[in-house]
Amino acid sequence: MSLKKLKDKIVNEIFPGWTNLVKEVPHLEQMALDRMSICMACDYIKKHPTLKHNYCGKCGCPVAPKSWSQLTSCPMMFWTKMELDGITPIPYTEEEIKTLQEKYGEKK
Ligand code: SF4
Repeated sequence: MSLKKLKDKIVNEIFPGWTNLVKEVPHLEQMALDRMSICMACDYIKKHPTLKHNYCGKCGCPVAPKSWSQLTSCPMMFWTKMELDGITPIPYTEEEIKTLQEKYGEKK
């Protein structure tokens, strides 16, 4: 991952996820709960051996803050992708599907 991509990911996905989780932003709660329930039933979820948090075995992200980040998506496309409002669903583009499948593999 390039430095610019890493910076964009931190600014647009990771930081907002943690901030929204800590603040428990009301209009994002349903999105986060829906995502968390999908993660908890997912074959790819793992428990960190030391830190004890649940994380995604595909992308490595901790699922709690990840689920609160509007612009983050599930690497296996199990979640509905959302607009910045966290309410409006948007479809994955053909290019996103191809990129995610090349990086993380096909759904089981
Ligand atoms: S693959 Fe998707 S649903 Fe499964 S743990 Fe990762 S983020 Fe959650």
